[in-house]
Amino acid sequence: MLRTDAPPASSLAEQLPEEWEQTIHEWGEPRYRALQIFRWIHQRGVFDPGLMSDLPKRLRERLAQEGLAEPARIAETHASADGTQKLLVELADQKRVETVLIPRGSVASEDIFAVPGDDDGVVGSSHTGEVTQCVSSQVGCAMGCAFCASGIAGLKRNMSAAEIVSQVLLGRTALGDSGRLAGLVFMGMGEPLHNYAAVTRAIRLLSHPEGLGMSLRRMTVSTSGLVPEIDRLARDFQGQVQLAVSVHASDTATRSRLMPVNKKYPLPELIAAVRRYPVPRRRRLTIEYTLVRDINDSQEAARELARLLDGLRAKVNLIPMNPVAGTGLQAPDDDVVERFQRVLRDAGLDTFLRKRKGDDIAAACGQLALHGESRKVKSEFV
Ligand code: SF4
Repeated sequence: MLRTDAPPASSLAEQLPEEWEQTIHEWGEPRYRALQIFRWIHQRGVFDPGLMSDLPKRLRERLAQEGLAEPARIAETHASADGTQKLLVELADQKRVETVLIPRGSVASEDIFAVPGDDDGVVGSSHTGEVTQCVSSQVGCAMGCAFCASGIAGLKRNMSAAEIVSQVLLGRTALGDSGRLAGLVFMGMGEPLHNYAAVTRAIRLLSHPEGLGMSLRRMTVSTSGLVPEIDRLARDFQGQVQLAVSVHASDTATRSRLMPVNKKYPLPELIAAVRRYPVPRRRRLTIEYTLVRDINDSQEAARELARLLDGLRAKVNLIPMNPVAGTGLQAPDDDVVERFQRVLRDAGLDTFLRKRKGDDIAAACGQLALHGESRKVKSEFV
């Protein structure tokens, strides 16, 4: 399960069962305790040893002494009229990230997320009650995308695998009986592939059959385009983890303006990496394209995007940008968005308009965690 070249767990809370066995063995405890502890954490969402009622007192005390504790707690919950719930999650050092619970199936509209067993992402009545959780992977983000609140704030630190897992388990608890956690998208605050070791360990923990047991195919990693890590993800999970790639422009110059990462991994290199990604049969990649008025929304840009993606097994999600104060960037008018979509569809690309669920609670990437913080926004577009 764990590749031999993967870095070791950085804390007890993020150990896989085989690592727990080793720890438990070294402590002179019977091996079966390893699975008991793993299940407490990953099935019941309990990290506090004091609550692990079927463990002997001496083991609970040892776990507490060794630092096993809750990595995070819910600081605030914001509910949107469309059923979206946004949780502000506070980590042990008081840093805050956000996670969003997005219900599926309430309206027959297209949606951004790769849905388990539903390759094209179209929401239908069969998904009623299913919830996709949008997960953060870093506190802030180093990538500096021009249209993103997290990028404006910069990177504060990486999240640990335990914090990422805890965020998911807190989300499941917040759902209660109101829905079923059916998929995860690493599309919240942060660039997941910039925190590769922790994110992939979290994926292994969350997919472990003795834990939450979420299928790899129900998890989507969304990247701004870190080419070496896309190849690494392909190698490590053989394409079983779904990939979403933020393209956001169809020419290199515009993409570099919107996404500084393009200077390091230019568009042609990124598209080549995307074409190498081993997509399982009957699955597709997701291409994200945020539409920004007068920057990347022309029909020529749409035609160029269609050429770029020609022959790729992918669907395209068009996302009219959410306004981020101070950037000077705006969403195009609806008719411009429609024309852009029509060009792609006419070229044979399955293209969906992302419904901006949760607009009233600022569900765009990074916005809630920034709420209340005053930021000096730097943007060449202002
Ligand atoms: S869009 Fe994603 S990669 Fe870009 S700055 Fe925001 S969080 Fe980072």
